[in-house]
Amino acid sequence: MISALMPTYNRADLAFERGEGAWLYAVDGRRFLDFGAGIATSSLGHGHPHLVGAIAEQAGRVMHTSNLYRVPQAERLAARYVEASFADSAFFCNSGAEANEGMVKMMRKAMSETGRGERYRVICFDGAFHGRTLAMLAATGNKKYLAGFGPEVDGFDHVPFNNLNALRDAIGPETAGILVEPVQGEGGIRPASLDFLRGLRAACDEFGLILGMDEVQCGMGRTGKLFAHEWAGIAPDVMSIAKGIAGGFPMGAILATEAVAKHLVPGTHGTTFGGNPLACAAANAVLDVILAPGFLAEVDRKARRLWSALEAVVAEYPAVVTEVRGAGLILGLKGAVPNTELQNAFAAEGLLTVAAGDNVVRLVPPLVLTDADCDAAVEMIRRGARRCLPTPSSVAAK
Ligand SMILES: *Cc1c(COP(=O)(O)O)cnc(C)c1O
Repeated sequence: MISALMPTYNRADLAFERGEGAWLYAVDGRRFLDFGAGIATSSLGHGHPHLVGAIAEQAGRVMHTSNLYRVPQAERLAARYVEASFADSAFFCNSGAEANEGMVKMMRKAMSETGRGERYRVICFDGAFHGRTLAMLAATGNKKYLAGFGPEVDGFDHVPFNNLNALRDAIGPETAGILVEPVQGEGGIRPASLDFLRGLRAACDEFGLILGMDEVQCGMGRTGKLFAHEWAGIAPDVMSIAKGIAGGFPMGAILATEAVAKHLVPGTHGTTFGGNPLACAAANAVLDVILAPGFLAEVDRKARRLWSALEAVVAEYPAVVTEVRGAGLILGLKGAVPNTELQNAFAAEGLLTVAAGDNVVRLVPPLVLTDADCDAAVEMIRRGARRCLPTPSSVAAK
């Protein structure tokens, strides 16, 4: 018989009753270091007093009023995003997929309103992940995710990641724009090269296309800059963010330049919950922490420290892990053994991680982790790697 909770996930047999910082406490009394952060979402860790306080305070006043009225918390949040980014305007919604849907609508509308309505197609990349709605399945392009859900939504073309020649070849008379993750998350923590990102910007400028970035996973401080594209010294025309932006409260946003955003006039797009007072209070509290002087520099410092410690583990256990990849605190360990085996070994040592494509284990800890947390994680990873060492008999069996 089907479980009451629809069985769409393969869940680990673990449930948590509380968390503190980068640590989670299971109902059975065990303690885990959380290097999954709810899939790169609990950016301030668990029980962060400033975030908890802001949510409790706002919940006590008013949670939801709808977009029929002004929402001061949303106006303030939008102004802060605009101040801190390339964008001139922000739209708030509730998830990454919803933000991406809105971003693609915005691209198409901007083309249509500037006399180029035949340009509706978006170029995406192999290994991408943009969400699970019908259109974002097509943007993701993974055949496994598309199977059984009927005709694929039209309008998305795929080319190899980090290959500018292939990208330029794919641009046609129907192309509206490009959609890229500066660091592919689900696809296996694959960073775009900075030259590739600059090349995308140049191609969009040359052909009059819209550059869209999906920073749902890699944005909001995770790479050590507020947004990952900043490392390349370029900016998109429109960008989606979600996951960590409200520290675990469900929220997404689209940030855009005026040229792109101005075409979504009243009646063209909307969402009931989007940008309600409670979500915006959470997101404002997250921004208070991430934009505080020195916070992003600390993320960068901790990330570099973690990277070199992980490099040492790879050097010690090349038969188990072959590579560290990523940027900042969105890191991947590529397995020489199956990533699920690694993930289980790490969990057995008390470390929670997330599997990703390309046989990678994702390390996406809360941005507030301490050096002691880092050191503890590296020790668990080392011990986990030792558990996965091929035994003489398993080597013989191959
Ligand atoms: C998680 C993710 C999404 C989808 O976000 P949801 O909130 O699950 O809809 C989209 N793009 C990227 C890069 C993601 O990591």
